[in-house]
Amino acid sequence: MRLAAGRGQIQGALILMYHSVGDAQNAKWLDPANHVPAAIFSRQMEFLARERKVVALDELVSTLQKGITPAAGTVVITFDDGYLDNLTVAAPILQRYKLPATLFLPIGYIDRAETQWVDQAYSAFKFRSNSRLVWGAGVATTFNLDDRAEHQAGYLAVCEQLLQAGARKRRELLDELFGQLHPTSLPPRLTMNWHEVKSLLRSYPCFEIGGHTLEHTDLSNVSGEEAQKELITCAQRLEEELGVQPHPFSFCYGRTSDSLRRMAATAGFEAACGGEGLDPVIKAPADLFRLPRVAGPASMRRFDLLTSSANTGIWRRLGR
Ligand SMILES: [Zn+2]
Repeated sequence: MRLAAGRGQIQGALILMYHSVGDAQNAKWLDPANHVPAAIFSRQMEFLARERKVVALDELVSTLQKGITPAAGTVVITFDDGYLDNLTVAAPILQRYKLPATLFLPIGYIDRAETQWVDQAYSAFKFRSNSRLVWGAGVATTFNLDDRAEHQAGYLAVCEQLLQAGARKRRELLDELFGQLHPTSLPPRLTMNWHEVKSLLRSYPCFEIGGHTLEHTDLSNVSGEEAQKELITCAQRLEEELGVQPHPFSFCYGRTSDSLRRMAATAGFEAACGGEGLDPVIKAPADLFRLPRVAGPASMRRFDLLTSSANTGIWRRLGR
């Protein structure tokens, strides 16, 4: 695959999506789906610097705007949700290999420097002092969290409801969860504040900032009016805090639609990530508001194959 990518036979770019990159100490608070250990991330970045062509997201966008398909092995690195360890752990690694990256921020979470809801829920389950959970909108189900299958089902039920809730309702649900499970400890602050975002940009100019809604909202699940407000306010707040426009955007949970993409463009964003079900290899002509992304697999062999732009179908069938 490396040969194929090197000869330029298979063209196209791939956008990698990361969340938290951290050490074992922080990992205990994080839903493993959103966390890559620093050692694996470092190995992946070393590989990309050596074997691939890593470009900034705005460079990929301008290449696609010219109608040019990026060269084989072109890779863009992105992070969602504004984890503090992006500054303390990931940024120095990217700097070491001189790799650019984009950070997509949910504005309200940065304003409050609040740990992502999924990690708050994960921690409440993990550090629970009570194993009986009664949960569900409408008809409630009782889960015995000491039973593996019921634990999994209970966590899924909680996350599904939190995902669909607005900011206020989400806070109420988390308070209800903490009230029932009485966790013995709660996560430290895992999210950056604006001071840290600005310090990241000053210390690591390889970073570009993008929007990720106000409240980490599934925009496909709210009214058009609310989605528009989230998008416009997100763009305005980024300009207020950081003083530059336009920014890229990423749809939470990859959920988007034609009308949401139009709204993102009208709000002033220059491009958007989120394209569930699309082939992850991006070629021209591409919808700049529907750029697919993929999470990098931990296995280096699969990471090599995936980022070569070749046979992503095979990789998908193999699973991560
Ligand atoms: Zn997110």
